[in-house]
Amino acid sequence: MQITQSTQLFSRAQQKIPGGVNSPVRAFKSVKMTPLFISHGSGSKIYDVDGNEYIDYVGSWGPMILGHAHPDVVSKLEETLRNGTSFGAPTEGEITLAEMVCEAVQSVEMLRLVNSGSEAAMAALRVARGYTGRDKIVKFEGCYHGSVDPLLVKAGSGAMTLGIPDSPGVPASFVEHTLQAKFNDLESVIKLAEENSQEIAAVILEPVAGNMGMITPEHGFLKGLRDLCDREGILLVFDEVMSGFRVDYGGAQTLFGIVPDLSIFGKVIGGGLPVGAFGGRQDIMLCVAPAGPVYQAGTLSGNPLAVAGGLATLSVLKEQNPYADLGQKTSWLCAEFRAAAESAGVPIQTQSMGGMFGFFFSENPVRNYQDALNSDVDRFAGFFSKMLRQGIYLAPSAFESLFISTEHSEEDLERTAAAFREALHAV
Ligand SMILES: *Cc1c(COP(=O)(O)O)cnc(C)c1O
Repeated sequence: MQITQSTQLFSRAQQKIPGGVNSPVRAFKSVKMTPLFISHGSGSKIYDVDGNEYIDYVGSWGPMILGHAHPDVVSKLEETLRNGTSFGAPTEGEITLAEMVCEAVQSVEMLRLVNSGSEAAMAALRVARGYTGRDKIVKFEGCYHGSVDPLLVKAGSGAMTLGIPDSPGVPASFVEHTLQAKFNDLESVIKLAEENSQEIAAVILEPVAGNMGMITPEHGFLKGLRDLCDREGILLVFDEVMSGFRVDYGGAQTLFGIVPDLSIFGKVIGGGLPVGAFGGRQDIMLCVAPAGPVYQAGTLSGNPLAVAGGLATLSVLKEQNPYADLGQKTSWLCAEFRAAAESAGVPIQTQSMGGMFGFFFSENPVRNYQDALNSDVDRFAGFFSKMLRQGIYLAPSAFESLFISTEHSEEDLERTAAAFREALHAV
């Protein structure tokens, strides 16, 4: 595998862009490599500037559920593009996208579009605080909600990979209202609720955690949170930026049958363009300006081009309902991974749900942040580069989830399983 062009571009990038990238985990630091620069993508494949082909399991970190350059998405974008890309005035597509999300996700009665998942998380917290008149929030160790100041406490994703869960530049006073609980540990939340009675505005979590590696909620955990929030007058906020339209068309909340008060979305709902959204119960959403007093705004929010990416993507998903098929594919891959690991004598844990999956090199089941940190990260780094050399593009960190698209073929999966066997024997 020759990566001369990528290496050159990376040197050039580092001169003008901090670390050479516009989002930290892209830098391949935790796998001790330098990033590949991508020239284009098509279906399940991406191609780097040196002409190498990869089967892509990153999918732009989640959005590309229909694969790259899906014809329906491309034609919808082309059509929209010709009519002007932004007006700062309402357009019909925004209503249609809001209607589609509300129809797909029962708990969402009203929705506001923003430009990223981070922005949606920030806004949802403000709304929860405005609605309840309380300041404190509970987040879970290892759950990531974007680069939002009060949520950068034991956050997952890039913050976890780089070992900077508490970033410099976030004043201690900004996180003093942020309480930490343990994922899959209802007691840890109950204790916080008791100690901070009538002070907690919201409990926010990824219902299926995807940013400390993939960790599914244990039976009763989400239900327990719902009951606790009901008793204490706390809003339950599901961050479905990753899981929304990914594990199921109705998100994780539909799969688990739990009704949150607010939800946030991103990734798939933009189909590869920058879209985020927050929504939920009507009485809460009516607090949002100009309907209500909680300020929230954005120059490019509901941007016609971005919205078109989302509309085209959701339309295909709604029509095809590919989730059972995606789920079969991810569980097949996980079974292959486990079999390969067993024969190589390597301890592994796998998880999959719809179009999302993940694995840890770990002896023990991974239920929370601490368990994830205890997995064998060094083994992952070596393994990652061996997969890459065989044309398999995984997320360059042990603490990220993996994604497949509707375009991943049986042959892609077979090749991936074969590469996995090969790579395990070599590490
Ligand atoms: C990606 C992600 C975010 C942040 O979204 P951005 O669009 O990167 O700002 C928030 N929450 C979760 C669960 C995510 O996976």
